[in-house]
Amino acid sequence: MGHTMAEDTIFSKIIRREIPADIVYEDEQCLAFRDVNPQAPMHILIIPKKPIAKLVNANDSDNTLLGHLMTTASQIATKEGYGDAFRLIINNGEKVGQTVFHLHLHILGGRDFSWPPG
Ligand code: AMP
Repeated sequence: MGHTMAEDTIFSKIIRREIPADIVYEDEQCLAFRDVNPQAPMHILIIPKKPIAKLVNANDSDNTLLGHLMTTASQIATKEGYGDAFRLIINNGEKVGQTVFHLHLHILGGRDFSWPPG
């Protein structure tokens, strides 16, 4: 229960242009914009326009969309100059750090990252 109303999040407001964002890419299926609190020199969020709250709420009918998010993320990282080394992160659930309940991939690059992740 809980976080299922992905239409009401700050990210849906960004899609609808109700609040501003530094948008770096848009097409019919997705939108990418710079994270307001960047954790690396490149920190971009890519989101589906379809309001999926969490990855666990996606299903096989979303496979093409999810693949599109990943290949587009890769293209954005490359365009930003970080095609050789970037990290994609999806936080699914509050316990692992999800704070906005509209599915998003973090695209991070421009510094060293440790493994295992924190
Ligand atoms: P997560 O913790 O995975 O849910 O990530 C949510 C991310 O959204 C955080 O990195 C926030 O800094 C970012 N964020 C929250 N509000 C905005 C906003 N208005 N514009 C851009 N990024 C945002």
